[in-house]
Amino acid sequence: MGKKRKPPICDYCQGPTEFVDDSEVYERSYGRKVYLCRPCNAWVGVHKGTTRPLGRLAKSELRKMKIQAHAHLGGRQCAPVDGGRTRREARLMCG
Ligand SMILES: [Zn+2]
Repeated sequence: MGKKRKPPICDYCQGPTEFVDDSEVYERSYGRKVYLCRPCNAWVGVHKGTTRPLGRLAKSELRKMKIQAHAHLGGRQCAPVDGGRTRREARLMCG
């Protein structure tokens, strides 16, 4: 660890994120930490034992939508993609 790392900036609102326990975003705590943007309800986990984010922040709705898309669509073209396609837009495209 050593150096102090600045928390990542939220992709959605460009605001700072908070380094919080994962019980803030999951039903229960898994003993991990996450960076959380409260206004957006967006978060990202960190590499175990570090404060390094796993990737970009994602809204929790988006995560759910991805899972549902996999279950219902089986990877068809209209499946939601990263980068701003909203649940509503995806639904319109998929009928
Ligand atoms: Zn945000």
